Amino acid sequence: MPRSSPEQPVFRFAPSPNGLLHLGHALSAIINHDMAAAAGGRFLLRIEDIDVKRCRPEFEAAIFEDLAWLGLSWEQPVRRQSEHLDLYAAALQRLRGLGVVYPSVMTRGEIKAAVAAAEAGGKIWPRDPDGTPLYPGDERNLPPSEQAVLLAGDRPYAWRLDVAKAVDLVAETLTWIETGAGPAGETGVITADPAAWGDVILSRSDAPSSYHLSVVVDDALQGVAHVVRGRDLYHATSVHRLLQRLLDLPEPIYHHHRLILGPDGRKLSKSSQDTGIAAFRAAGRSPAEVRAMVL
Ligand code: GLU
Repeated sequence: MPRSSPEQPVFRFAPSPNGLLHLGHALSAIINHDMAAAAGGRFLLRIEDIDVKRCRPEFEAAIFEDLAWLGLSWEQPVRRQSEHLDLYAAALQRLRGLGVVYPSVMTRGEIKAAVAAAEAGGKIWPRDPDGTPLYPGDERNLPPSEQAVLLAGDRPYAWRLDVAKAVDLVAETLTWIETGAGPAGETGVITADPAAWGDVILSRSDAPSSYHLSVVVDDALQGVAHVVRGRDLYHATSVHRLLQRLLDLPEPIYHHHRLILGPDGRKLSKSSQDTGIAAFRAAGRSPAEVRAMVL
């Protein structure tokens, strides 16, 4: 895999094949493609299909079809994350070696109940930037012997990042360079706040890697110099910077672009068929019209 060079910076569009692409994806793919072309750089397409339960080959085929119809071209071969689980497992192993991950066993239902109980007692439970309550479990404090019992047992567990410990270990303020803008217009040098996410999941028994872990491993491996993606992932960059620092990975430049909102003012979802690229194609609209609609 050729590495990024200053002369040929690498850009990537990294959709998950768990639904049909909509106008927001068209915008992201076109911006990446055009920025790469303007910089004399390379444009990669990466299929982020680690969630085997939700990803389908027909959605992957539709991604290729929609992007080609839009007039975009990308380098071959296309990287599929499901084919590289060993690399994400190795990265997790390295984090285990650093002592900054722990196995956690609370189910979604147990988490919900614990948070509800705490809030019923008058406590305001902290939430991550996406609004999800932070993990209320305390397995991070288990002594090694009890952790070994848990790992050997039958209960499914998920590896979580001990964010407080990781931040302590790094012992420096992490930042990133933002050439786009965050939700509140943040741009320039941004201070990362990974603790705002609590102890994020890095792998679980039914999904051997998380988005956060695989995205930083792949961006580094593919030499991605510019991460260009929707503003909904702006805050996730804090977790990515922490993982990059822990795993000794290079720091890309980030560019978060605006989102395309639906008539209800919310960001488009893959189930909103009427804003799907394929639907516009089927309705006889041209790629130029779709481009003009999003840019
Ligand atoms: N796979 C992610 C998504 O479809 C995007 C990852 C990224 O650009 O960092 O939302």
